[in-house]
Amino acid sequence: MTQTILGDDALPQCIDFLLNRYASDTLYVLSDHHCWQALPQASRAALQMFHLNILPESPKAEMALAQRLSIEALHHHGIVSIGSGTLTDLAKYISYHNKIPHIAVGTAASMNGYVSANASLLEAGHKQSFAVKAPDFLFLDIQLLTAAHSRLTCAGVGDTLCRSTILADHALATLCHAPPFDLHLLQKVEYEEAALSNRDTINIKALANALLASGNAMKEAKSSAPASQSEHMLVHACELLYPEACAPYYHGELVAVATVICAELQDQLWHKSTLQLRPLLSYAEASSVLGETLTQSLYPSYVHKYQLLAERLPSLQWKAQRPTFPNRLNASQLVTKLQECGCPASPNEIGLTEAQIKAASAIARVTRDRITILDFC
Ligand SMILES: [Zn+2]
Repeated sequence: MTQTILGDDALPQCIDFLLNRYASDTLYVLSDHHCWQALPQASRAALQMFHLNILPESPKAEMALAQRLSIEALHHHGIVSIGSGTLTDLAKYISYHNKIPHIAVGTAASMNGYVSANASLLEAGHKQSFAVKAPDFLFLDIQLLTAAHSRLTCAGVGDTLCRSTILADHALATLCHAPPFDLHLLQKVEYEEAALSNRDTINIKALANALLASGNAMKEAKSSAPASQSEHMLVHACELLYPEACAPYYHGELVAVATVICAELQDQLWHKSTLQLRPLLSYAEASSVLGETLTQSLYPSYVHKYQLLAERLPSLQWKAQRPTFPNRLNASQLVTKLQECGCPASPNEIGLTEAQIKAASAIARVTRDRITILDFC
């Protein structure tokens, strides 16, 4: 269980905590140039007594790097990460591998993975999720989060606003099969989302709380389902198909755009009188895009999902049974909210064409055993 300290003086609290608890040279402090420079001079000076490893700008979350750093961090009594997604994930791996406590200092409200027990690392060219250990302590300093680059904050907004597409996907899964998670887990995210923004400023504390609530929802559900449905599947498909186009963008920026696309599909489906299943994608079609190895592992569960839906659909009275959501933002409301927060909302803002999105959405339903809007539109 991660002990989280979120507030105006979280950073000074963290420094005091480290200085009181750890002797000189017993801590391994991992950061990158940009995040390190974001700390006030006094904090940087105080941390000099520990073993510092300040990586160059924008390190990649690669397994090879995580393993190399684990060796370097051997014989230390704890690891401190100062950064957001990449540095936290690297440190999670090191902490788990070396069996030492992890004290995370978050420098941006950019993602919901700070408190998760998974690390997303690149291995053999693919981003994979590895079961590790959640940080023991997480310090989120409001001043530090506020000073983060606006694109990182936008990414956090994107990873929060997908709550609306998740809500409708949850309803589809519930009607067609079984609820993928307890919907109450989204209540705190919704509450914080409501306080997220006004026209000019983003309430960074509400954003951080929303992301933490989303992370905790995944933990409680023991699944990424409360934070990742069609919009995330679409993002992963885009990353598989167009890795170079997606590479310059943060996860949450891609999610923001995918959320709008999936919400549009959901809005259309909610106006139809019947539910119709998208035609079965053949093995050959799937493997021509995903390759043989990936298709071999994914295709059987896709076919199983398809058969289940095909059996269930005839007995469904979509018009009568479709739920309504007072607390779901439709596509145009999402666009407004994203634009208010300065986030990308359309494919061209993340370097993708409509045709590329269409191709990705055709294959995305195969990539995960989840019933979502992508099975119907
Ligand atoms: Zn996400």
